[in-house]
Amino acid sequence: MSKKSDAAVKLMEKIQLRHPIPEQLEGYSLMHQGLYAILRRQLQPAPSLKVIEVLKTAYGDWNELRVAQAQEIAGHLKPAQLGERAIPVARDVREYLQEVFQRSHGLDLEFLRDDPVSSARFVSILPFIGTATASYLMWIASGRELPVTPTLVRVLDRIGLVTRQGGSMKKARAQIEPLVPEHDQLGFVVKFGEVASRWCDARKPACHACVLVDDCKYGKKAYKEWKLQQERLEVLRQKDEARQAVLRQKEEERLAREAAKAAKKAAADAAKKAAEDARLAAIAARKKAQEDERLRIKKEREAELAKKAAARQAEIQKKQQAKEAKAKELAAKKLAAEKARAKALADKEKARLAKQAKEAAAAKAAAAKAAALKAKAKKAAAPKAAASKKKPAKGKKKR
Ligand code: SF4
Repeated sequence: MSKKSDAAVKLMEKIQLRHPIPEQLEGYSLMHQGLYAILRRQLQPAPSLKVIEVLKTAYGDWNELRVAQAQEIAGHLKPAQLGERAIPVARDVREYLQEVFQRSHGLDLEFLRDDPVSSARFVSILPFIGTATASYLMWIASGRELPVTPTLVRVLDRIGLVTRQGGSMKKARAQIEPLVPEHDQLGFVVKFGEVASRWCDARKPACHACVLVDDCKYGKKAYKEWKLQQERLEVLRQKDEARQAVLRQKEEERLAREAAKAAKKAAADAAKKAAEDARLAAIAARKKAQEDERLRIKKEREAELAKKAAARQAEIQKKQQAKEAKAKELAAKKLAAEKARAKALADKEKARLAKQAKEAAAAKAAAAKAAALKAKAKKAAAPKAAASKKKPAKGKKKR
């Protein structure tokens, strides 16, 4: 074993895979093998195979499945009994198909078997599927031969295990093959694929976070630069923080000054307002006193007028009563005079009637006397009349 192959094995031990290397399936297309590798990130082998079978039955082709909603796909996964994992699994299925479609302009990975140019292009950018899974698929596609891609060459070149020679994959393979452990070819490509996916980006490698940084030629230098940059950034950050602190201090002072000014102004306003309130209160009190005085005078005047009116009324009443008493007295006198006059008239009438009665009695007595006289006369005349009848009377007596 060479020094480099020894170093490659040590590096492999440092790389921890996030997902297990999928079991190799017989009788499945590369699309299915890829889907199985994606499903194995969340599921055990049996449920992963069950999901594949369920989806095969539910959807006529890959594109129909690609354009389906995650909810709909999850609805078909009930027989696999995934419970709460159904939606995340459905999302992974859609994302896998979407990335294959976008990166290869189709939904068939069979080109990985015989088209190295398309394969290299496909593997170069796979944010969801990842270089590790893609390397696994290429390993199957190549009939379990070491898949040498520009991505793998880039990582190994940066580490210092190989030297890129003008982009020739043939020369690169010649350098890489001696590095690969005899019985772990798949582990080699998957693990360095993992490094490529997670840290060793073509343009912007995250060497400071990479597990291989201490053993990587490029990474050590990049880490140094990153560290220097971080230190510079830290200095800048501290400077910025100090500047911010000064600004904050100034701002706090300004705010304090403004607050003091505002408080002073508020106090002055309050004093002014209190003075104004006192002035208005004094005016109001004066007005009230004036009003009270005016009301008191008015009340007194009204009382006086009422008193005068009452006196006048009493006077009028007294006069009226005197007048009425006088009228009453006059009426009484008049009545008494009337009564006296009536009595006098009555007495007079009585006297008249008495006189009249006396006269009537006298007349009656006279009449009776006359009648008696007449009767006497008659009686006295009767013998003469009888004698007259016997001798006619010489003449009649005039009345
Ligand atoms: S240290 Fe940097 S250059 Fe080296 S493998 Fe890791 S990411 Fe790539």
